[in-house]
Amino acid sequence: MKVLFVTPELFPLVKTGGLADVSGVLPLALARLGMDVKVLLPAYPGVLERLESAVPVASVDDLFGGPARLVAGRTATGVAVFAIDAPHLFARPGNPYLGPDGKDRLDNPQRFAALGWLGAEIGLGRLLDWHPDVVHAHDWHAGLAPAYLALAGARRPATVQTIHNVAFQGNFPARLLRALRLPPSAFSIEGVEFYGQIGFLKAGLHFADHITTVSPTYAREIQTPEHGMGLDGLLRHRTKQLTGILNGIDEMTWNPARDPHIPSRYRGTKLANKAPNKAALQERLGLDRSVEGPLFCVVSRLAYQKGLDLVLAALPDLLAAGGQLALLGTGEAGLEAEFRAAAAAAPDRVACVLDYDERLSHLFQAGADAIIMPSRFEPCGLTQLYAQRYGTLPIVSCVGGLADTVIDASEAALNDGVATGFQFAPPTATALGLVLSRTFDLFAQPAAWRRVQRRAMTREVGWQRPAERYAALYRRLVSSTGRAAADGGEADVEV
Ligand code: ADP
Repeated sequence: MKVLFVTPELFPLVKTGGLADVSGVLPLALARLGMDVKVLLPAYPGVLERLESAVPVASVDDLFGGPARLVAGRTATGVAVFAIDAPHLFARPGNPYLGPDGKDRLDNPQRFAALGWLGAEIGLGRLLDWHPDVVHAHDWHAGLAPAYLALAGARRPATVQTIHNVAFQGNFPARLLRALRLPPSAFSIEGVEFYGQIGFLKAGLHFADHITTVSPTYAREIQTPEHGMGLDGLLRHRTKQLTGILNGIDEMTWNPARDPHIPSRYRGTKLANKAPNKAALQERLGLDRSVEGPLFCVVSRLAYQKGLDLVLAALPDLLAAGGQLALLGTGEAGLEAEFRAAAAAAPDRVACVLDYDERLSHLFQAGADAIIMPSRFEPCGLTQLYAQRYGTLPIVSCVGGLADTVIDASEAALNDGVATGFQFAPPTATALGLVLSRTFDLFAQPAAWRRVQRRAMTREVGWQRPAERYAALYRRLVSSTGRAAADGGEADVEV
């Protein structure tokens, strides 16, 4: 089985969020199941240099305004990559999507249409000898790949569109239709049109044989007006072809027993060895090491979605109860300023690192006692999975993947020894305040806290099981899309 991932991010080459982790590790887990997975990715600056055994394998005269090469290679972690070397589209330093002014790059429609276009060209067997059975598009950036494939009217591979976050949709002016190589007939409800614009994610959701998203709860939520962001109607219409498959984590990179980025490695059986990491984190951040209360942390994009304004609202009570807070994050200027001010007002109790620092995020995970994720919505969330592996108890709002991956320390769960963290609902400052006082109560009972830590650390959070579900989906799609491609019908796949 050959599968082409089409994605705008891949760890360790380029990462702005969880999607990069998924594209970087799921292919390796699928390879362990015998699948041949290759990843199509734009060659942003530095990508080609970091590819091992890079060789050009194809060229295109005009890829949306300039020539391009396809360069095959491998990441240091072993993922097979086709990098799109198109300097006129991708040779821009900094964030892959935003210009130096912090706004979306003006030619993002062309840049990511090019990604989808090449995904389709490979899928149709026009570019390489390698012909995938499945083209798997990730997020809106790849959403035109299933559309180009379906519109080509030729025999094509099966297609899957994954929603990593329905809030990011890639909607662009209708006048770009021709420039994006879409036929006028595609501009309809039964096509790429979305509220008068061209919707990249809408296109993927309409044309793909199957849709997945990254947790079962999020799969249900996005079919409601409250969380569907305008796409809920289409998702309800396609409910039989929509599956939630939880993300896993890279258990090699995120393993407290082997982590090279933390000063003291530890296991669930020797939790005393976690303590020096707390001291190191406090020291690094200038926090008072004599405080005995819990050290809470946040590792997150600073965005409305993540509900971090609720942390600011709960902060006075958190400090009054004897806690400390350490934040690692970048994002909205207003939130950055408020956290900076909170740290300035109590530098021995609150610290913020307004930066993106992958290595430091490991020390945060190892050093903190608990991590706060008060998201208003959360498709899956990875941070709470890392935290559980590190015995750092997650305090999460009960939405999306957070609802599916944390077992709340209720009386019943504590008695049965299955609790792995704390959940609260709704995502409000009041509810966060209440769950924080439950956290303080448990922290005051060290033996009970350790039991929850140990349970959290032994949860199965790897990619094995999710990969098996993707593999089953691909197999069923491939066996049924011969029919779909021939008669235009839709594959109806139960996973
Ligand atoms: P999202 O994809 O919505 O940002 P996830 O929880 O799925 O949220 O994934 C976030 C990923 O980005 C995690 O791997 C997390 O550790 C990482 N991350 C977020 N902010 C930072 C930061 N400031 N420094 C280092 N890593 C970060």
